Amino acid sequence: MNEKIKNQLFKKNIFYKYDEENKLYCIYVPCKKIQTNEVAFDCPFCFDRYKKCGEPFKNSISVKHFHGYTPDASGNIGSRTPHCSWQTRRYWDLPPFEFHLFDKFLITTGNQGSPSTPPVNIADL
Ligand SMILES: [Zn+2]
Repeated sequence: MNEKIKNQLFKKNIFYKYDEENKLYCIYVPCKKIQTNEVAFDCPFCFDRYKKCGEPFKNSISVKHFHGYTPDASGNIGSRTPHCSWQTRRYWDLPPFEFHLFDKFLITTGNQGSPSTPPVNIADL
């Protein structure tokens, strides 16, 4: 994972960890239920408009991604394959990763496997 990605995740206050077993990064994104069976979140990487050189425009906005809603009791929705565009992947040079979704309105304050206390704080890296 390169510095540009790390900085972006830090700016957005998003945690991640490396999943040794599956050889990919797990990126923890808070999402919001929008339908009975659907959640949405602002992608930390995707923007709506890109310049020809591949950079997102300064005034471009984050793109939302949509996924099915199947939370467990603590608000974890599980891992999802990213829907990021090829422009996004190219711009950030994204490594293999998955989004780990959690419902920010269902998070309990306990430490029992709650994603509000993810294993790695990127500020510590
Ligand atoms: Zn995306």
